[in-house]
Amino acid sequence: MTTTSLLWPAPAVPTLAVRGQTSRAPVNRLFFVGRNYHAHAIEMGRPVDKASEAPFYFTKSPSTLVASGARVPYPPGTADYHYEMELVVVVGAPGFRVTQADAHRLVYGYACGLDMTRRDLQLVARDKGRPWDLGKDIEHGAVISEVVPMPGVVIERGEIALQVNGQVRQRSDVARLIWSIPELIADLSTYYHLQPGDLIYTGTPEGVGPVRPGDSIDGHIEGVGEIVLHVAEADPA
Ligand code: MN
Repeated sequence: MTTTSLLWPAPAVPTLAVRGQTSRAPVNRLFFVGRNYHAHAIEMGRPVDKASEAPFYFTKSPSTLVASGARVPYPPGTADYHYEMELVVVVGAPGFRVTQADAHRLVYGYACGLDMTRRDLQLVARDKGRPWDLGKDIEHGAVISEVVPMPGVVIERGEIALQVNGQVRQRSDVARLIWSIPELIADLSTYYHLQPGDLIYTGTPEGVGPVRPGDSIDGHIEGVGEIVLHVAEADPA
C-alpha cells in the first residue's frame, strides 16, 4: 500500500463531545435556517408568511466550529458582531427526500448552538442581493455545545434563552419554530443527501444583539443543555 504524500497537513475533521460517550461525533456540514421564529423575522424587517414561503438556508465551513466554553477574538471586518442562540439538530443517519413522517429517523441528538453573525455585513449583503458569506462564515463563528444523544426524538417545545454578562437578551420557546424539525429535515433533504455528522442550526428567536470584547454569552435550551462563549479582544492590527 502506498502512502499519499501531502504538501501540508490535511485539515482535521472537527469532532464534538457527546454526553455520556467516550467516542466523539465527527462533523460533516453545517446548515443554518434563516428566519425561523416570527418575532425574529419581524425584528429583522422581513416577516415570514409560511403559507407562501419555504425555509431558506445558508452554510458555514466546518472549520468555523468552536466548542462551548471557548474564548474567541472579536472578528475582523465588523463593528456589529451579534449572537443568535439556536437549537441544533445532529444528523446521525443518511437521508434523501425524506418524508416528514420519517424525518425523526435521521435524528441522532441535539446541541445548543450560537450562529455568530457580522450583522453589518450580513445586512449590506442582503440588501444588495449578495451572498451572506462574509456576514455568516466567520472564523470561530459556529459555536456548539456537547451533543446530547436522543435518537429518533423530535423536540417540539422547551425554553430557549440567552444572556450576555448575566442579562437576559433572548427568551422564547422551541414551540415557536415556524418550520418544525421534521419539516426542516424533510425540506433540506430535497436539496442535499443528508449524512451523519451534518448539523442543522434551526434558527434564532428574537432579541439578537451585539457583543463587545470582554463580554460573556451563556445560553440554554430546556431539555438539551447549555452553551458559553467568551469574546476577547480583536487580533492586533
Ligand atoms: Mn441564525
